[in-house]
Amino acid sequence: AARHRERLYALCKDAARFYYQTLWQPEHRAAQQYFIGRGLHRRVMNQFGLGYAPDSFHALIDAMTAKGYTREELMDAGLVSRSEKGRIYDRFRNRVMFPIIDVRGNVIAFGGRVMDDSKPKYLNSPETLIFHKSRNLFALNLAKTTKNGYFILAEGYMDVIALHQAGFDSAVASLGTSLTEEQARIIARHTDQIVISYDADGAGQAAAQRAIDILKKCDLQVKVLKIPGAKDPDEFIKAKGADAFRAIIDRSENHNAYRLEQIAAKYDLEDDEARVLFLRDAARMLAGIESSIEREVYAGRAAKMAGVTAEAMNIEVRRELGIRR
Ligand code: ATP
Ligand code: MN
Ligand code: MN
Ligand code: MN
Repeated sequence: AARHRERLYALCKDAARFYYQTLWQPEHRAAQQYFIGRGLHRRVMNQFGLGYAPDSFHALIDAMTAKGYTREELMDAGLVSRSEKGRIYDRFRNRVMFPIIDVRGNVIAFGGRVMDDSKPKYLNSPETLIFHKSRNLFALNLAKTTKNGYFILAEGYMDVIALHQAGFDSAVASLGTSLTEEQARIIARHTDQIVISYDADGAGQAAAQRAIDILKKCDLQVKVLKIPGAKDPDEFIKAKGADAFRAIIDRSENHNAYRLEQIAAKYDLEDDEARVLFLRDAARMLAGIESSIEREVYAGRAAKMAGVTAEAMNIEVRRELGIRR
């Protein structure tokens, strides 16, 4: 079994090399242009080992079997699919390729993106003997050596790569799905502070709420970024630059403040009735804060937001705590 794992690591590494070499062949200028058009420099493309899977059902199979890998090994590495008739074919075709590398530096899987608007936009390797999505973070192999005091958690490949190019070398991504507890524990081994920098859309914000809970369980200090005027960190950096991103990190809010604002956004605080509802809603959230000092601070903030006294807010929070006990 150990021998089989080693073979799969070697195969994924050779596949990454194949995709990389294919990208830089002159006839695949369109794929090179895709990355360049998205603002990536050659240096960072190489750092991440970006590649291109050609538009063929057997280019990878041919190249890897010529190197002595078997069809079973290709199947077990998640690099090929099997048709109903039992024939295998390249899983990734005509996609730009992002190798997924584990913390020790082994290539373990791939993400592949179409270069136009066709669907699915991203295709990832399936779970394999060496790839467990929930136990890996994209770019952790690079972020683990950062001198930054905090990690940045983004949604996608392009966000992380744009962040690294802009000098934020502690950026990682949770590989598409929402953050898992295992991933949070892994992050906590490398840092005690994290800035969540998910997409500005509803899905991203909902995922941020879930990520806060999971990261807090691991005793991480959690901040949440709001990215003004752009839909994700990649687009923000492209539009406004690295210094502007650093400025929003410096102004990023503690997760409690972020939550209060998310709650406040649901209510018209000019309206008395709505304000009462906001206070109840906020009190429920505040009652969930473990530390009484923190609870007090954010109760004060909520009171200010609704224009009531801190005392009134505290009574409501205590009532909520009473209900809980
Ligand atoms: P781009 O990555 O080109 O900037 P985007 O920002 O619109 O596009 P999102 O839709 O926000 O991308 O996706 C963020 C991340 O979620 C991707 O990098 C990928 O890891 C994952 N993802 C998105 N769509 C899929 C999919 N169909 N299957 C698997 N993973 C996906
Ligand atoms: Mn998104
Ligand atoms: Mn996005
Ligand atoms: Mn994007």
